[in-house]
Amino acid sequence: MTVDPMVGRLRVSQRVREIPASGIRKYFDLVNTIPDVISLGVGEPDFSTPTHISSAAAAPLQDADYVATHYTSNYGLLSLRQALASHLGRLYGVSYDPAAELLITVGVSEGLDIALRALVDPGDEVIIPEPSYVSYIPCTVLAGGVPVMVPTFERDGFEPQPEAIAAAITPRTKVILLGYPNNPTGAVARRETLERIVALATEHDLFIISDEIYDRLVYGRHRHVCVSSLPGAQERTILLGGFSKAYAMTGWRVGYAAAPPDILEAMMKVHQYIIMCAPSPAQIAAEVALQTGEDDVARMVAEYDRRRRAIVDGLNALGLPCFEPQGAFYAFPEVSPTGLSSSEFAERLLREEHVLVVPGDAFGPAGAGHVRCSYATALPKIEEALTRIGRFVKRARG
Ligand code: PLP
Repeated sequence: MTVDPMVGRLRVSQRVREIPASGIRKYFDLVNTIPDVISLGVGEPDFSTPTHISSAAAAPLQDADYVATHYTSNYGLLSLRQALASHLGRLYGVSYDPAAELLITVGVSEGLDIALRALVDPGDEVIIPEPSYVSYIPCTVLAGGVPVMVPTFERDGFEPQPEAIAAAITPRTKVILLGYPNNPTGAVARRETLERIVALATEHDLFIISDEIYDRLVYGRHRHVCVSSLPGAQERTILLGGFSKAYAMTGWRVGYAAAPPDILEAMMKVHQYIIMCAPSPAQIAAEVALQTGEDDVARMVAEYDRRRRAIVDGLNALGLPCFEPQGAFYAFPEVSPTGLSSSEFAERLLREEHVLVVPGDAFGPAGAGHVRCSYATALPKIEEALTRIGRFVKRARG
């Protein structure tokens, strides 16, 4: 770490130095140097935003419409918050006041950051089941909190285990941070599991931050349960959701937070100073997505499901046992039968067969022995990737 010779102090703050380096970045850097790469590495839809959604935002921009080209309310467009309240009510039977309990954010990324900053005092502990999304630990650390990782296991369907969470609770625990449907495992948490976690939160007076960005991407007989719809949950839950995954709108940078009024107000305070408001054209597009995007969601979910079955069957047939993902768009096969670690597997597969996957331990130590393969990639590419992985596995096993 560089020391500034003039003043003899470290140039980068302690807080930022504490953040672990991303386990993924070097793979993405490598990809750009290799031809013909098939990437199963990305965490975003390969679909473009449905054109009727893009056009609805483009038209007012072209007309230099006032709303589309100026700040909105710090909370976000009221009409979008009203549409969101109806949408959440319709899907999950929850009731949120658009004026005081909903905030439009710059994606779930911002929602997560401001939720943690609004709740966490220095030294407060945040319980995070892992493997989990790569931002949870850094955002906790940046908020001054202490991440307390609780492993989840394939034998439990990678569901968070209430007993393990209970054992991790201390007098310093403030938040349980959940992310289901899960990135990277594809696990969906069942109602009874979530009910037991809500009961723990109630007993110990904890908050739950529930990142439900993959809520619409759930397959087969599995159903997404919105945490705040559970009895006693809404008053202690910060529900985070977004448009990136369900409507293929990652680049628009728009999401939302739903929370009790005092917590939402605290989050708003941070939001207004660092962000002001989510981009106005993106908010207009998000409102159209809520109003007329259902057919698009259904079309994309059906396609992800087709790919999901192809990749899971394909990986199993290659001798890489693969837990059946129930949501999101990731398969999380075991690579230990090859005798390689997750990162050896990912690095060699990339160099030798030009297929990018992400080592499972980039998402927490319980992900070791696995890799994450995104199926937000066209089916012919998935099929070609499986052929290449098959060749590689044969070679690796000798
Ligand atoms: N939460 C999870 C679990 C994710 O996988 C991602 C993106 O990959 C995000 C949040 C960030 O989403 P957004 O685009 O809404 O910021």
